[in-house]
Amino acid sequence: MESMVSAVDRNSDYDVMVIGLGPAGANAAYHLACAGIRTLAIEKKKMPRRKLCAGGISAKVIKLLDFDYSAAIEQEIRSAVIHYRHQSVEMSGGEKVGYVVNRPTFDHLLALRAVKAGAEIHEEESVLSISEISHVIEVKTTLGIYRCRALIGADGVNGVTSHLWGYNARPADIGVEIHVSGEHDIVRQHLHKLGFYFGAFPDGYAWIFPRKEDASIGLGVPLKQARHTRGLLADFLESLGLPRALADKARGHGIPLYSPLTKRPFCRRNILLAGDAASFVDPITAEGIYYALKSGEEAARTIAKTLPSNSEAAGVYKDAIKQSILPELRAAWKLSLPFYAFQLATFNAIMASARIRDMQFDVIVGRRSYQEIVAQFPNVFSLMRKILFARSDAGKIRLLRSGRVGKK
Ligand SMILES: Cc1cc2nc3c(=O)[nH]c(=O)nc-3n(C[C@H](O)[C@H](O)[C@H](O)COP(=O)(O)OP(=O)(O)OC[C@H]3O[C@@H](n4cnc5c(N)ncnc54)[C@H](O)[C@@H]3O)c2cc1C
Repeated sequence: MESMVSAVDRNSDYDVMVIGLGPAGANAAYHLACAGIRTLAIEKKKMPRRKLCAGGISAKVIKLLDFDYSAAIEQEIRSAVIHYRHQSVEMSGGEKVGYVVNRPTFDHLLALRAVKAGAEIHEEESVLSISEISHVIEVKTTLGIYRCRALIGADGVNGVTSHLWGYNARPADIGVEIHVSGEHDIVRQHLHKLGFYFGAFPDGYAWIFPRKEDASIGLGVPLKQARHTRGLLADFLESLGLPRALADKARGHGIPLYSPLTKRPFCRRNILLAGDAASFVDPITAEGIYYALKSGEEAARTIAKTLPSNSEAAGVYKDAIKQSILPELRAAWKLSLPFYAFQLATFNAIMASARIRDMQFDVIVGRRSYQEIVAQFPNVFSLMRKILFARSDAGKIRLLRSGRVGKK
């Protein structure tokens, strides 16, 4: 893998600084550099760095990326299997619908692309604080002090920028994950298939995402259950016929699911937050890579528009995000309420109706938007009616409610 070294110039002035080199920051730095803007991106770790993530990328992401990231592809995805307790249904588009990527390599390739476009990158340097003095933004790091005219905060859920403006940025969910070797049958059964497991947790799900040599197995649940995640993962592994002890190796990370109720600010004056730092994460599936890439790009495009005239970026960014990201996240949030409250009913609706099955699959793989689904069921009650009274293929009406937490 190529080196990321770019000229190190500390204690200097830049047009724009980007904090964090995940998908949001790397994509922002790339688009800024392409627009000829003097950009410094700062990343606290050495790339390629570890990143806890199942690495699923959907058709939406593939459409956004026009460069060669094949070195990061772990496995091509052709179908998805939804499990509810002991029942399951496989949904397939018959062709490639997405990939599972290796996150350290994927993020490294995105960062290298930004360097090639002309962005300056400092690794192993941590941002400590950010202050605004008149129209200048001052950034203090472990190695120096920098000034810039605009800043993109892309330092993830635990970074410093998500805590700017005094907002208590606690993530809504926690995800725990392990990699399980391909010698296990259950891993081999998931070749080219994403596995989603519902029914064991009231507001979350477990997954098996296949990789080259192994699989990502994990689960995401509300943060209030953080203390129990290892135990829940051990139960899940046992239900798959895997040793419970594998859960001892699990690592966890916060997931800032989007909710309109938090009214969380994501920009002010010339500081714009992108990706997890702004809580742009799908509240149903916890898909965050697409929203990180997209918001990073929107932030860069905004600054390219506003910087030359010294005008404020926040208003323009807010409008761009209101058009490109928030409608979809809002629609996902609306659907997440009946989806998780009535998991068994949702599963039965998927089993019973080919139309609902197709919709679900298309949403998972990014071929259809949540907004289209909400438009078909204009109020939540019509959707609930559809889910709760799903007519099975045999014409039998079912009224079902989901179970509580428990072993599968
Ligand atoms: C268990 C789990 C599984 C997931 N699976 C999927 C999936 O399959 N598909 C999907 O789309 N999404 C998934 N997600 C969500 C996805 O990983 C995130 O939404 C995505 O990484 C957000 O990208 P980002 O660029 O905003 O932040 P990050 O990828 O978190 O990058 C932030 C960067 O900022 C750096 N940083 C932090 N603080 C500082 C500082 N003070 N100074 C300098 N640098 C700093 C960090 O080192 C990091 O490199 C998953 C999340 C979890 C926890």
